[in-house]
Amino acid sequence: MESSIKTHLAVIGGGPGGYAAAFLAADLGLEVTLIDPEANPGGVCLYRGCIPSKALLHIAKLLNETEEAANWGVEFQKPKIDLGKLREYKNGVVNKLTNGTGQLLKQRNISHIRGRAVFLDSHTLEITKPDNEKSQLSFDFAILATGSRPAAISKLAVDSPRVMNSTSALDLDDIPGSLLVIGGGYIGLEMGTVYAALGSKVSVVEMMPGLLPGADRDLVRILSKRLEERFENIMLKTKVVEMKTLKESVKVTFENENGEREEKKYEKVLISIGRKPNSDSIGLENTKIETDKRGFILVDEQRRTKEASIYAIGDIAGEPMLAHKASHEGRVAAEAIAGHKTAYEPQAIPAVVFTDPEIAWCGLTENEAKEKGIKVEVMRFPWAASGRAITMDRTDGLTKLLFDPETERILGMGIAGAGAGELIAEGVLAIEMAALASDIKLSIHAHPTLSETVMESAEMFFGQATHVYRPKRK
Ligand code: FAD
Repeated sequence: MESSIKTHLAVIGGGPGGYAAAFLAADLGLEVTLIDPEANPGGVCLYRGCIPSKALLHIAKLLNETEEAANWGVEFQKPKIDLGKLREYKNGVVNKLTNGTGQLLKQRNISHIRGRAVFLDSHTLEITKPDNEKSQLSFDFAILATGSRPAAISKLAVDSPRVMNSTSALDLDDIPGSLLVIGGGYIGLEMGTVYAALGSKVSVVEMMPGLLPGADRDLVRILSKRLEERFENIMLKTKVVEMKTLKESVKVTFENENGEREEKKYEKVLISIGRKPNSDSIGLENTKIETDKRGFILVDEQRRTKEASIYAIGDIAGEPMLAHKASHEGRVAAEAIAGHKTAYEPQAIPAVVFTDPEIAWCGLTENEAKEKGIKVEVMRFPWAASGRAITMDRTDGLTKLLFDPETERILGMGIAGAGAGELIAEGVLAIEMAALASDIKLSIHAHPTLSETVMESAEMFFGQATHVYRPKRK
């Protein structure tokens, strides 16, 4: 029999968007129910995305550094990898975090219903619990945060444990002798980095002329150079047109830009060609909610959908599909529902690729400036001139700042190099605060740190960087 209850705010999906929204809404005094299939909030990010991948990348970094240490006079023996223990470590990290979110949920008195929700109308959900029992929940407001799932290539659909997506790749069932990563986006490159460090011969195939198609080329060039050393092969402007699972391998047929075909065998294949919003099968047809062609839900600046009682946030509400963007939108939606004056209007959303070296950017990119015809002055500080980078033997880096030539205001920042993901925060703050080149130049940065590369890029704007000689042309 169907039971029916009522809540003020129903949050559907417990990822970084949903749980951030639910937590803030409760903090603002609203009565909240969170619906998600997992035992604790976390979503893709905590269970099968950001967090497990970064735990594995941490180990990959350590393995790579022990190899490089030979250049500094310290030789390690070949590491013994206990895959079971490694998995335990990664799962432990996930458990620690998701138990934490579970506790925070209880402390805030948020009701949690385990299950999947479907809209019956603009104020009612039908929830199917893990044991298939159904119930109804009526709500005054809802925040939809059902996230996304790995996109599949339908004509290459192969049901085999040899063909993985990002979720199964994180399970780390084994370390294949050879691995083909289909897709040169950030998830494929991060997972490729993990498997290469553990000992797989990793190849990457990408249809576009370069890796990380959205990022500025000068940043990607630095990463590509290192990946060419660590990976077995990087095939650009190449498509996979056929895949066949054999007993001990997967036979893959490639087609290059000239239409020439070639076959190669790999022990395993990882398909990582992007993600699809979970906007199908949630009953949108029973509401006035509209989506775009890719399935992203259309929202206004407060993340309200075409249905006044329902908001949408996170991966389901459009690019960039990133956890911190989801959380920020979640907080905006919660505030809007609580009656606050608020809007989603970030000037700079950081993007970080956790490869080695890392790549990070925020605000305006050079690609975007070119596309939109925005005049910028670009300052590039090479890490070969950074004392800190030299001490780390990591001069393969670049910090660049994009300035408005007239107002001297910072518009964007891009970094390739070790730890770029941490450094980018300064760019986000500078852009949000509308900082000028002189503000960054006059802020004393600790020595010797990589953060000095940010200050020196700003000094370059005036032709006065201490560690590079590049006087400003009159
Ligand atoms: P999700 O995290 O996708 O959560 C949605 C939740 O809703 C899930 O728990 C799902 O089970 C639940 N749900 C779905 N349908 C229903 C339903 N009908 N009823 C109830 N619940 C439902 N982003 C970063 O910012 N940094 C990174 O380093 C990073 N690394 C990543 C690595 C990998 C391998 C992957 C796959 C993703 C990574 N991402 C990263 C992306 C990040 O995980 C997503 O952007 C983020 O999780 C989106 O959050 P969300 O709240 O929109 O949805």
